[in-house]
Amino acid sequence: MPAAHWVGCNEALRTDLGLPTDLWQQQEALELFTGNRLTVDQHSYASVYSGHQFGQWAGQLGDGRALNLGAIETPLGLQELQLKGAGPTPYSRRGDGRAVLRSSIREFLASEAMQGLGISTTRALCVTGSPAHVRREEVETAAVVTRVAPSFVRFGHFEHFASNGHIDELRALADHVVTAHLPEVQNKQGAERYVALLHEVTQRTAVLMAQWQAVGFCHGVMNTDNMSVLGLTLDYGPFQYLDGFDANHICNHSDTSGRYAYARQPQIAYWNLFCLGQALMPLIDEQAPALAALETYRQAFPEAMDQRMRDKLGLSGIHEGDRALVEDLLQALQQDRVDFTVFWRRLSLAVRESTHSTHAFEPVRDLFLLREVFDAWCARYLERLGSVNRQVTGDTMLRTNPKYILRNHLGELAIRQAKQGNFAMVQDLLNVLHAPFNEHPAYEAWAGLAPEWASSIEISCSS
Ligand code: AMP
Ligand code: MG
Repeated sequence: MPAAHWVGCNEALRTDLGLPTDLWQQQEALELFTGNRLTVDQHSYASVYSGHQFGQWAGQLGDGRALNLGAIETPLGLQELQLKGAGPTPYSRRGDGRAVLRSSIREFLASEAMQGLGISTTRALCVTGSPAHVRREEVETAAVVTRVAPSFVRFGHFEHFASNGHIDELRALADHVVTAHLPEVQNKQGAERYVALLHEVTQRTAVLMAQWQAVGFCHGVMNTDNMSVLGLTLDYGPFQYLDGFDANHICNHSDTSGRYAYARQPQIAYWNLFCLGQALMPLIDEQAPALAALETYRQAFPEAMDQRMRDKLGLSGIHEGDRALVEDLLQALQQDRVDFTVFWRRLSLAVRESTHSTHAFEPVRDLFLLREVFDAWCARYLERLGSVNRQVTGDTMLRTNPKYILRNHLGELAIRQAKQGNFAMVQDLLNVLHAPFNEHPAYEAWAGLAPEWASSIEISCSS
């Protein structure tokens, strides 16, 4: 691509990976990460996959625009580098293999925001851009994200080989995942090994879903090809973090039936795990152990979710009424579409301040139209909280409930500036989102409620 330039450079990840300190000054690196210096060798490849899209079998569909450069040994362990949007691959079909600046910036910021929140995710080392034209709904310019992960293997990779009856390849893939990434399963042989693989993916996915739900993250396109076998958040498209709480929120403008609405995500993940289980069946043969592995989700997800919510509330121990306390809270938040992030942050502060102020909860109360509903809930909450040290509990809650999330409108503002050639906000947002639990006084405005115009942002699948 002509006239490549840096759009965003992730200095923190560069350091973590032990890459050269002058990386961003190297013309060679710029060209490499734009896909301009690719040599076809034994290390680089694009990997084909199939999958279920919106609940329907879609056959072969990827990877038409991701190129793995190979893996590098890093202080974080073996990490694969992958270029998204560097041009056509053997699997591009009618696609151009490109990605646009807008969606690349969203992926760059979102994956690093997830990392900052402590949620499993693929990472993003950099975004480069080019004035080269890319045609979507309108003509846009091209960009490439360099993604980093221990593995980019998806449920859809397994579905691909299973659906084509390529059982040797299916087994080779499963063995590769086990050997390279799931050492705890490695000593098992035969069918037992693949049941253990399914069990491990199920557990990881359950935890990931609890992590998403707890921060109000909507993925938007939970097709089976967008699910990582390592339980990483993968493929940031029309995702959104909730502003006002709405369990039925649909962030993907193309998802007309609401299949991937916020509240449905845990159930969809479970459905997707069944697709993975189905794909592994040729290696497992018997249905019962596969079902047993899958069904652990029914316990693992609620357990992980309950724990996350107790953490958010600063509750220790497990009490019988905890789930009702959470459900009633979510109902109250839903009723008034209370901002999900602001609520938790104010609640955390209120708990801390309540050691020396009797008005500490007023800023939380102010978020509700139905004050008496909040008052009743808050009384129950404080009783459950008990006689803990509120200063300490509040501080812990402030490290659990982020102040900064990648709200749609923030991404949108950064993209608008980037389209004008100004990448400062991309870089500043990255820095803030890397430490979302901290105070960043210069960026206080980014912690506020979404402006009126934010609700009119429409994010489609086109990227
Ligand atoms: P997505 O809905 O973004 O997860 O895309 C599904 C699959 O479609 C991806 O894995 C890509 O392989 C393929 N794809 C999407 N956009 C393009 C493109 N512009 N060129 C080639 N393949 C694409
Ligand atoms: Mg995808």
